[in-house]
Amino acid sequence: MVKYDVIVVGGGIAGSRAAKMAADCGLSTLLLEKCKTPRNKPCSGIQFAYFERLLGSKIPPEKLCHNELKRIEMVLPNGKVVRGKMRMLNFMREPFDDWLNSEAMKAGAEFQDETVLLDFQEDQDVAVRLRRNATQEEVEVHARYLIDAEGTMSKVRMKLRPEDYETKRSAGATINYYLEGEGDLDENTLYMFYRREFCPMMFAWVYKKNDLWVVGTGADDNPLPYARRFLDYIRQTYKLNGQIVRTEGYSSTFNGGIFLGQGNELLVGDAAGLIDEYRGMGMDAAALSAIYAVEAIMESQKDGRPAITAYSKHMEKIIRQIERDKRLQSSRFGSDAALEKSMTGRMMLLSGLRLLLGSQLNKILPPDRIWLLP
Ligand SMILES: Cc1cc2nc3c(=O)[nH]c(=O)nc-3n(C[C@H](O)[C@H](O)[C@H](O)COP(=O)(O)OP(=O)(O)OC[C@H]3O[C@@H](n4cnc5c(N)ncnc54)[C@H](O)[C@@H]3O)c2cc1C
Repeated sequence: MVKYDVIVVGGGIAGSRAAKMAADCGLSTLLLEKCKTPRNKPCSGIQFAYFERLLGSKIPPEKLCHNELKRIEMVLPNGKVVRGKMRMLNFMREPFDDWLNSEAMKAGAEFQDETVLLDFQEDQDVAVRLRRNATQEEVEVHARYLIDAEGTMSKVRMKLRPEDYETKRSAGATINYYLEGEGDLDENTLYMFYRREFCPMMFAWVYKKNDLWVVGTGADDNPLPYARRFLDYIRQTYKLNGQIVRTEGYSSTFNGGIFLGQGNELLVGDAAGLIDEYRGMGMDAAALSAIYAVEAIMESQKDGRPAITAYSKHMEKIIRQIERDKRLQSSRFGSDAALEKSMTGRMMLLSGLRLLLGSQLNKILPPDRIWLLP
Protein backbone atom coordinates (compact mmCIF):
# COMPACT_ATOMS: atom_id res chain seq x y z
CA MET A 1 0.00 0.00 0.00
CA VAL A 2 1.32 3.45 -0.99
CA LYS A 3 1.28 5.73 2.07
CA TYR A 4 2.33 9.38 2.39
CA ASP A 5 2.44 11.66 5.39
CA VAL A 6 0.35 14.24 3.52
CA ILE A 7 -1.75 14.24 0.38
CA VAL A 8 -2.49 17.74 -0.95
CA VAL A 9 -5.32 18.04 -3.47
CA GLY A 10 -5.20 20.99 -5.90
CA GLY A 11 -2.11 22.55 -7.47
CA GLY A 12 -3.16 26.21 -7.17
CA ILE A 13 -1.77 28.75 -4.71
CA ALA A 14 -2.86 27.05 -1.49
CA GLY A 15 -2.02 23.49 -2.57
CA SER A 16 1.40 24.30 -4.01
CA ARG A 17 2.34 26.36 -0.94
CA ALA A 18 1.18 23.61 1.42
CA ALA A 19 3.04 20.91 -0.52
CA LYS A 20 6.26 22.92 -0.61
CA MET A 21 6.13 23.62 3.11
CA ALA A 22 5.19 20.04 4.03
CA ALA A 23 8.11 18.71 1.98
CA ASP A 24 10.44 21.35 3.48
CA CYS A 25 9.36 20.06 6.92
CA GLY A 26 10.45 16.54 5.92
CA LEU A 27 6.94 15.10 5.38
CA SER A 28 6.48 12.70 2.47
CA THR A 29 4.04 14.66 0.32
CA LEU A 30 1.91 13.94 -2.74
CA LEU A 31 0.46 16.96 -4.62
CA LEU A 32 -2.42 16.23 -7.01
CA GLU A 33 -3.75 18.50 -9.76
CA LYS A 34 -6.67 17.48 -11.94
CA CYS A 35 -5.69 19.61 -14.96
CA LYS A 36 -2.80 19.18 -17.31
CA THR A 37 -0.29 21.84 -16.30
CA PRO A 38 0.36 24.67 -16.93
CA ARG A 39 -3.33 25.40 -16.42
CA ASN A 40 -5.16 28.72 -16.40
CA LYS A 41 -7.37 29.99 -13.58
CA PRO A 42 -9.64 33.04 -13.97
CA CYS A 43 -8.00 35.58 -11.68
CA SER A 44 -6.72 39.16 -11.83
CA GLY A 45 -3.35 37.93 -10.57
CA ILE A 46 -2.67 40.99 -8.40
CA GLN A 47 -1.24 40.79 -4.90
CA PHE A 48 0.54 42.86 -2.27
CA ALA A 49 4.34 42.71 -2.10
CA TYR A 50 4.16 40.64 1.11
CA PHE A 51 2.69 37.75 -0.90
CA GLU A 52 6.21 36.76 -1.91
CA ARG A 53 7.06 36.23 1.77
CA LEU A 54 3.93 34.11 2.22
CA LEU A 55 5.03 31.92 -0.67
CA GLY A 56 8.44 31.33 0.88
CA SER A 57 10.23 31.66 -2.48
CA LYS A 58 11.70 34.55 -4.41
CA ILE A 59 9.51 35.11 -7.48
CA PRO A 60 11.63 34.97 -10.66
CA PRO A 61 11.10 38.23 -12.63
CA GLU A 62 10.04 36.30 -15.74
CA LYS A 63 7.03 34.92 -13.83
CA LEU A 64 5.68 38.47 -13.42
CA CYS A 65 4.12 40.64 -16.13
CA HIS A 66 6.60 43.02 -17.74
CA ASN A 67 4.52 46.03 -16.68
CA GLU A 68 4.83 46.53 -12.93
CA LEU A 69 1.90 47.97 -10.94
CA LYS A 70 3.25 50.83 -8.82
CA ARG A 71 0.22 53.04 -8.31
CA ILE A 72 -3.44 52.70 -7.41
CA GLU A 73 -6.26 54.97 -8.50
CA MET A 74 -9.65 54.73 -6.82
CA VAL A 75 -12.61 56.37 -8.51
CA LEU A 76 -15.13 57.13 -5.78
CA PRO A 77 -18.94 57.14 -6.11
CA ASN A 78 -18.99 60.97 -6.21
CA GLY A 79 -16.50 60.99 -9.12
CA LYS A 80 -13.54 62.09 -7.00
CA VAL A 81 -10.27 60.27 -7.67
CA VAL A 82 -7.88 59.16 -4.94
CA ARG A 83 -4.37 58.27 -6.06
CA GLY A 84 -1.63 56.55 -4.11
CA LYS A 85 1.69 54.82 -4.56
CA MET A 86 1.62 51.10 -3.90
CA ARG A 87 3.78 48.42 -5.46
CA MET A 88 1.64 45.41 -6.31
CA LEU A 89 2.69 42.09 -7.83
CA ASN A 90 1.17 41.57 -11.29
CA PHE A 91 1.20 38.09 -12.83
CA MET A 92 -0.66 35.63 -15.03
CA ARG A 93 -1.82 32.56 -13.14
CA GLU A 94 -0.80 30.07 -15.82
CA PRO A 95 2.99 30.54 -15.60
CA PHE A 96 2.80 31.58 -11.96
CA ASP A 97 1.04 28.45 -10.65
CA ASP A 98 3.25 26.30 -12.87
CA TRP A 99 6.27 27.84 -11.15
CA LEU A 100 4.68 27.21 -7.73
CA ASN A 101 4.17 23.54 -8.66
CA SER A 102 7.86 23.34 -9.53
CA GLU A 103 8.80 24.95 -6.19
CA ALA A 104 6.85 22.20 -4.40
CA MET A 105 8.65 19.55 -6.46
CA LYS A 106 12.03 21.18 -5.79
CA ALA A 107 11.32 20.90 -2.07
CA GLY A 108 10.73 17.16 -2.53
CA ALA A 109 6.96 16.83 -3.02
CA GLU A 110 5.78 14.31 -5.59
CA PHE A 111 3.56 16.11 -8.12
CA GLN A 112 0.98 14.40 -10.32
CA ASP A 113 -1.05 16.51 -12.71
CA GLU A 114 -4.01 15.18 -14.71
CA THR A 115 -4.88 13.31 -11.54
CA VAL A 116 -8.21 13.92 -9.89
CA LEU A 117 -9.47 13.14 -6.41
CA LEU A 118 -12.69 11.13 -6.76
CA ASP A 119 -13.44 10.30 -3.14
CA PHE A 120 -11.87 9.83 0.27
CA GLN A 121 -12.52 8.03 3.57
CA GLU A 122 -11.05 8.66 7.01
CA ASP A 123 -10.46 5.64 9.19
CA GLN A 124 -7.09 4.90 10.81
CA ASP A 125 -5.63 7.10 8.08
CA VAL A 126 -7.07 8.95 5.07
CA ALA A 127 -7.71 6.80 1.98
CA VAL A 128 -7.96 8.77 -1.26
CA ARG A 129 -9.36 7.32 -4.46
CA LEU A 130 -7.96 9.06 -7.50
CA ARG A 131 -8.06 8.76 -11.26
CA ARG A 132 -5.20 9.41 -13.65
CA ASN A 133 -6.94 11.12 -16.56
CA ALA A 134 -4.41 10.11 -19.21
CA THR A 135 -5.00 6.37 -18.67
CA GLN A 136 -8.35 6.45 -16.79
CA GLU A 137 -6.64 4.24 -14.21
CA GLU A 138 -8.16 4.46 -10.70
CA VAL A 139 -5.96 3.88 -7.66
CA GLU A 140 -6.16 4.27 -3.91
CA VAL A 141 -3.45 6.06 -1.94
CA HIS A 142 -3.21 6.62 1.79
CA ALA A 143 -1.90 9.39 4.02
CA ARG A 144 -1.94 10.41 7.63
CA TYR A 145 -3.21 13.89 6.70
CA LEU A 146 -5.22 15.35 3.83
CA ILE A 147 -4.94 19.01 2.81
CA ASP A 148 -7.77 19.98 0.51
CA ALA A 149 -6.94 22.90 -1.80
CA GLU A 150 -9.41 22.18 -4.62
CA GLY A 151 -10.83 25.70 -4.80
CA THR A 152 -14.51 26.57 -4.43
CA MET A 153 -15.89 23.42 -6.10
CA SER A 154 -14.19 21.10 -3.63
CA LYS A 155 -15.20 17.43 -3.70
CA VAL A 156 -13.94 17.04 -0.14
CA ARG A 157 -16.13 19.89 1.06
CA MET A 158 -19.10 18.60 -0.96
CA LYS A 159 -18.81 15.32 0.92
CA LEU A 160 -18.30 16.84 4.36
CA ARG A 161 -20.77 19.71 3.93
CA PRO A 162 -23.22 18.92 1.08
CA GLU A 163 -25.55 21.68 2.31
CA ASP A 164 -23.01 24.28 1.12
CA TYR A 165 -23.74 23.26 -2.47
CA GLU A 166 -27.48 22.74 -2.35
CA THR A 167 -28.40 25.92 -4.17
CA LYS A 168 -27.71 25.86 -7.89
CA ARG A 169 -28.02 29.66 -8.13
CA SER A 170 -24.86 31.61 -8.95
CA ALA A 171 -23.30 33.00 -5.77
CA GLY A 172 -20.84 35.20 -7.64
CA ALA A 173 -19.69 35.67 -11.21
CA THR A 174 -17.08 37.80 -12.95
CA ILE A 175 -16.15 38.81 -16.48
CA ASN A 176 -12.78 40.00 -17.70
CA TYR A 177 -12.40 41.50 -21.17
CA TYR A 178 -8.84 41.48 -22.53
CA LEU A 179 -8.29 44.27 -25.05
CA GLU A 180 -5.55 45.26 -27.43
CA GLY A 181 -4.87 48.94 -28.09
CA GLU A 182 -4.14 52.00 -26.03
CA GLY A 183 -6.03 54.76 -24.22
CA ASP A 184 -5.48 57.50 -21.66
CA LEU A 185 -4.49 54.90 -19.10
CA ASP A 186 -1.21 54.29 -17.32
CA GLU A 187 0.14 50.74 -17.61
CA ASN A 188 1.63 50.94 -14.09
CA THR A 189 -1.67 51.81 -12.35
CA LEU A 190 -4.36 49.58 -10.91
CA TYR A 191 -7.70 51.38 -11.42
CA MET A 192 -10.61 50.60 -9.07
CA PHE A 193 -14.08 51.99 -9.71
CA TYR A 194 -16.44 52.13 -6.73
CA ARG A 195 -19.75 52.69 -8.48
CA ARG A 196 -22.70 50.38 -8.04
CA GLU A 197 -23.82 50.71 -11.65
CA PHE A 198 -20.49 49.12 -12.63
CA CYS A 199 -20.16 46.62 -9.80
CA PRO A 200 -22.85 45.99 -7.15
CA MET A 201 -20.61 44.00 -4.79
CA MET A 202 -17.09 45.48 -4.79
CA PHE A 203 -15.12 47.55 -7.29
CA ALA A 204 -14.85 47.21 -11.06
CA TRP A 205 -11.25 47.10 -12.30
CA VAL A 206 -8.89 48.07 -15.10
CA TYR A 207 -5.21 47.16 -15.32
CA LYS A 208 -2.69 46.05 -17.88
CA LYS A 209 -1.23 42.55 -18.17
CA ASN A 210 1.76 42.54 -20.49
CA ASP A 211 0.34 43.81 -23.80
CA LEU A 212 -3.36 43.61 -22.99
CA TRP A 213 -5.73 45.81 -21.01
CA VAL A 214 -8.09 43.98 -18.69
CA VAL A 215 -11.50 45.55 -18.03
CA GLY A 216 -13.56 43.52 -15.59
CA THR A 217 -16.29 43.39 -13.01
CA GLY A 218 -18.34 40.98 -10.92
CA ALA A 219 -21.88 40.60 -9.63
CA ASP A 220 -23.69 38.27 -7.31
CA ASP A 221 -25.88 37.19 -10.20
CA ASN A 222 -25.47 37.99 -13.92
CA PRO A 223 -22.43 40.28 -14.43
CA LEU A 224 -22.98 40.82 -18.16
CA PRO A 225 -25.02 44.07 -18.04
CA TYR A 226 -22.52 45.55 -15.59
CA ALA A 227 -19.55 44.45 -17.68
CA ARG A 228 -20.98 45.94 -20.89
CA ARG A 229 -21.88 49.24 -19.20
CA PHE A 230 -18.45 49.44 -17.59
CA LEU A 231 -16.60 48.65 -20.81
CA ASP A 232 -18.56 51.38 -22.66
CA TYR A 233 -17.67 53.83 -19.91
CA ILE A 234 -13.98 52.95 -20.03
CA ARG A 235 -13.92 53.17 -23.83
CA GLN A 236 -15.50 56.63 -23.74
CA THR A 237 -13.78 58.11 -20.71
CA TYR A 238 -10.29 56.79 -21.35
CA LYS A 239 -10.51 56.48 -25.15
CA LEU A 240 -9.53 52.83 -25.02
CA ASN A 241 -9.94 51.92 -28.65
CA GLY A 242 -8.75 48.30 -29.10
CA GLN A 243 -10.56 45.09 -29.92
CA ILE A 244 -11.53 42.48 -27.33
CA VAL A 245 -9.21 39.55 -28.00
CA ARG A 246 -10.34 37.33 -25.15
CA THR A 247 -13.23 37.13 -22.67
CA GLU A 248 -12.83 35.25 -19.42
CA GLY A 249 -15.86 34.33 -17.36
CA TYR A 250 -16.08 32.80 -13.91
CA SER A 251 -19.09 31.70 -11.93
CA SER A 252 -19.59 29.73 -8.75
CA THR A 253 -22.59 28.32 -6.94
CA PHE A 254 -20.60 27.95 -3.75
CA ASN A 255 -21.97 30.05 -0.93
CA GLY A 256 -21.03 28.23 2.21
CA GLY A 257 -18.90 30.52 4.35
CA ILE A 258 -15.82 29.35 6.18
CA PHE A 259 -15.26 25.68 6.95
CA LEU A 260 -11.82 24.38 7.93
CA GLY A 261 -12.36 20.61 7.89
CA GLN A 262 -12.40 17.88 10.52
CA GLY A 263 -9.98 15.47 12.16
CA ASN A 264 -6.91 15.24 9.95
CA GLU A 265 -8.63 16.64 6.84
CA LEU A 266 -7.87 20.33 6.53
CA LEU A 267 -9.39 22.70 3.98
CA VAL A 268 -7.29 25.66 2.81
CA GLY A 269 -7.73 28.61 0.43
CA ASP A 270 -10.96 28.92 -1.54
CA ALA A 271 -12.02 25.39 -0.54
CA ALA A 272 -12.19 26.69 3.04
CA GLY A 273 -14.20 29.74 1.87
CA LEU A 274 -11.39 32.26 2.44
CA ILE A 275 -11.91 34.51 -0.59
CA ASP A 276 -12.61 38.03 0.64
CA GLU A 277 -14.83 39.99 -1.74
CA TYR A 278 -14.47 43.21 0.23
CA ARG A 279 -10.73 43.16 -0.49
CA GLY A 280 -11.12 41.49 -3.91
CA MET A 281 -8.36 39.09 -2.86
CA GLY A 282 -7.97 35.44 -1.95
CA MET A 283 -4.45 34.36 -2.82
CA ASP A 284 -2.80 35.78 0.31
CA ALA A 285 -5.32 34.05 2.60
CA ALA A 286 -4.85 30.87 0.52
CA ALA A 287 -1.07 30.90 1.08
CA LEU A 288 -1.38 31.84 4.76
CA SER A 289 -3.93 29.09 5.44
CA ALA A 290 -1.56 26.60 3.74
CA ILE A 291 1.21 27.64 6.14
CA TYR A 292 -1.10 27.23 9.14
CA ALA A 293 -2.33 23.83 7.92
CA VAL A 294 1.23 22.48 7.76
CA GLU A 295 2.11 24.06 11.12
CA ALA A 296 -0.97 22.32 12.56
CA ILE A 297 0.11 18.97 11.10
CA MET A 298 3.55 19.35 12.69
CA GLU A 299 1.89 20.13 16.03
CA SER A 300 -0.50 17.19 15.66
CA GLN A 301 2.45 14.87 15.14
CA LYS A 302 3.91 16.04 18.44
CA ASP A 303 0.83 16.11 20.67
CA GLY A 304 -1.23 13.37 18.97
CA ARG A 305 -4.32 15.59 18.72
CA PRO A 306 -6.22 15.87 15.41
CA ALA A 307 -4.66 18.55 13.19
CA ILE A 308 -7.95 20.47 13.00
CA THR A 309 -7.49 21.54 16.67
CA ALA A 310 -4.32 23.56 16.06
CA TYR A 311 -5.42 24.64 12.57
CA SER A 312 -8.67 26.17 13.88
CA LYS A 313 -6.69 28.09 16.50
CA HIS A 314 -4.17 29.46 13.97
CA MET A 315 -6.98 30.54 11.66
CA GLU A 316 -8.92 32.59 14.22
CA LYS A 317 -7.44 35.94 13.15
CA ILE A 318 -8.05 35.42 9.41
CA ILE A 319 -11.60 34.27 10.09
CA ARG A 320 -12.33 37.34 12.22
CA GLN A 321 -11.02 39.59 9.43
CA ILE A 322 -13.00 37.85 6.66
CA GLU A 323 -16.20 37.89 8.69
CA ARG A 324 -15.75 41.57 9.56
CA ASP A 325 -15.07 42.35 5.88
CA LYS A 326 -18.22 40.47 4.87
CA ARG A 327 -20.30 42.64 7.21
CA LEU A 328 -18.57 45.78 5.92
CA GLN A 329 -19.17 44.73 2.33
CA SER A 330 -22.87 44.11 2.77
CA SER A 331 -23.39 47.45 4.55
CA ARG A 332 -21.10 49.36 2.13
CA PHE A 333 -22.83 48.13 -1.02
CA GLY A 334 -26.37 48.26 0.40
CA SER A 335 -27.08 51.63 -1.25
CA ASP A 336 -25.34 54.48 -3.10
CA ALA A 337 -25.54 56.58 0.06
CA ALA A 338 -23.91 53.85 2.19
CA LEU A 339 -21.14 53.40 -0.37
CA GLU A 340 -20.49 57.12 -0.46
CA LYS A 341 -20.51 57.35 3.35
CA SER A 342 -17.95 54.53 3.61
CA MET A 343 -15.56 56.45 1.38
CA THR A 344 -15.45 59.93 2.90
CA GLY A 345 -12.12 61.76 3.15
CA ARG A 346 -11.74 60.70 6.78
CA MET A 347 -12.43 57.03 6.02
CA MET A 348 -9.99 57.07 3.11
CA LEU A 349 -7.32 58.67 5.28
CA LEU A 350 -7.78 56.03 7.99
CA SER A 351 -7.59 53.13 5.55
CA GLY A 352 -4.56 54.74 3.84
CA LEU A 353 -2.79 54.94 7.22
CA ARG A 354 -3.67 51.34 8.02
CA LEU A 355 -2.32 50.28 4.63
CA LEU A 356 0.90 52.19 5.18
CA LEU A 357 1.44 50.82 8.68
CA GLY A 358 0.56 47.27 7.61
CA SER A 359 2.91 47.36 4.61
CA GLN A 360 5.82 48.47 6.80
CA LEU A 361 5.08 45.91 9.52
CA ASN A 362 4.70 43.10 6.98
CA LYS A 363 8.30 43.63 5.88
CA ILE A 364 9.57 42.55 9.29
CA LEU A 365 6.92 40.23 10.72
CA PRO A 366 7.52 36.48 10.30
CA PRO A 367 5.38 35.17 7.38
CA ASP A 368 2.84 33.46 9.63
CA ARG A 369 2.19 36.76 11.47
CA ILE A 370 1.66 38.87 8.34
CA TRP A 371 -1.44 41.13 8.29
CA LEU A 372 -3.70 40.64 5.28
CA LEU A 373 -4.05 44.17 3.93
CA PRO A 374 -7.37 45.74 2.88
C1 LIG B 1 -12.07 36.82 -11.59
C2 LIG B 1 -11.27 36.64 -10.33
C3 LIG B 1 -10.27 37.55 -10.04
C4 LIG B 1 -9.49 37.37 -8.89
N1 LIG B 1 -8.48 38.24 -8.66
C5 LIG B 1 -7.71 38.09 -7.58
C6 LIG B 1 -6.60 38.95 -7.35
O1 LIG B 1 -6.29 39.82 -8.14
N2 LIG B 1 -5.87 38.74 -6.22
C7 LIG B 1 -6.15 37.75 -5.33
O2 LIG B 1 -5.45 37.61 -4.33
N3 LIG B 1 -7.18 36.90 -5.55
C8 LIG B 1 -7.95 37.05 -6.65
N4 LIG B 1 -8.96 36.16 -6.87
C9 LIG B 1 -9.16 35.05 -5.95
C10 LIG B 1 -8.12 33.94 -6.21
O3 LIG B 1 -8.15 33.57 -7.57
C11 LIG B 1 -8.37 32.73 -5.32
O4 LIG B 1 -8.60 33.15 -4.00
C12 LIG B 1 -7.18 31.77 -5.34
O5 LIG B 1 -6.96 31.25 -6.62
C13 LIG B 1 -7.43 30.61 -4.36
O6 LIG B 1 -6.39 29.69 -4.50
P1 LIG B 1 -6.63 28.15 -4.17
O7 LIG B 1 -5.31 27.51 -4.28
O8 LIG B 1 -7.42 28.01 -2.92
O9 LIG B 1 -7.60 27.61 -5.33
P2 LIG B 1 -7.37 27.57 -6.90
O10 LIG B 1 -6.39 28.56 -7.33
O11 LIG B 1 -8.74 27.58 -7.49
O12 LIG B 1 -6.73 26.13 -7.15
C14 LIG B 1 -7.48 24.93 -6.99
C15 LIG B 1 -6.81 23.85 -7.83
O13 LIG B 1 -7.38 22.58 -7.50
C16 LIG B 1 -7.56 21.83 -8.68
N5 LIG B 1 -8.59 20.82 -8.39
C17 LIG B 1 -9.92 21.06 -8.21
N6 LIG B 1 -10.55 19.90 -7.94
C18 LIG B 1 -9.61 18.92 -7.95
C19 LIG B 1 -9.68 17.50 -7.74
N7 LIG B 1 -10.82 16.87 -7.42
N8 LIG B 1 -8.52 16.79 -7.85
C20 LIG B 1 -7.35 17.42 -8.14
N9 LIG B 1 -7.25 18.75 -8.35
C21 LIG B 1 -8.37 19.50 -8.24
C22 LIG B 1 -7.99 22.88 -9.70
O14 LIG B 1 -7.78 22.44 -11.03
C23 LIG B 1 -7.06 24.05 -9.34
O15 LIG B 1 -5.83 24.01 -10.02
C24 LIG B 1 -9.76 36.30 -8.01
C25 LIG B 1 -10.78 35.39 -8.30
C26 LIG B 1 -11.53 35.55 -9.45
C27 LIG B 1 -12.59 34.55 -9.77
